[in-house]
Amino acid sequence: MSDAHDKLRTYREKRDFGRTAEPSGGAPSETGDVFVIQKHAARRLHYDLRLELDGVMLSWAIPKGPSFDTKQRRLAVRTEDHPLDYAGFEGIIPKGEYGGGAMIVWDRGRWTCAGDPRAQLDEGHLRFTLEGEKVHGRWHLLRTKGFDDADGNGKGESWLFFKGKDEHVDPSRDLVNERPESIVSGKTIEDLQADG
Ligand code: MN
Repeated sequence: MSDAHDKLRTYREKRDFGRTAEPSGGAPSETGDVFVIQKHAARRLHYDLRLELDGVMLSWAIPKGPSFDTKQRRLAVRTEDHPLDYAGFEGIIPKGEYGGGAMIVWDRGRWTCAGDPRAQLDEGHLRFTLEGEKVHGRWHLLRTKGFDDADGNGKGESWLFFKGKDEHVDPSRDLVNERPESIVSGKTIEDLQADG
């Protein structure tokens, strides 16, 4: 079995694909550098940042979402690696299932890391740029505590997600409230919930 298959073991163990419409796999994107931020109304609302690397989407759950203010360092809890097809997932995860609730593709685009992202992950400081429809420029993910668990899924790791200095910095903007909609369907979480 492939390396990506092994990395997705935790993801698959948490889900019953007979019940949830979430993807279980997927092929690498043409460029290998897709990022997505999904808005997810699970038990607690949060934004899931996912970065494509080596056949999976590395994932962090960020309760407050991104800010263009460099002083707003947002808690980002590392979660299990997700399959590549997850970058296109929008829908309702059934109540009672893992992560049950509505999810939209809040932003998506390409990410680039100036150095070696694997070394930066080990070091606990990922420095990268995001070019999406809403989110732009330089960003940081900085590990504050916790280390990779035995199967390398980073269970329980706390990181901080924050804006790096560049021309996109703007403390006056309230990005998550200005632009609540999906970049794929134009729908908000509330629209999706009303659709059933
Ligand atoms: Mn989530």
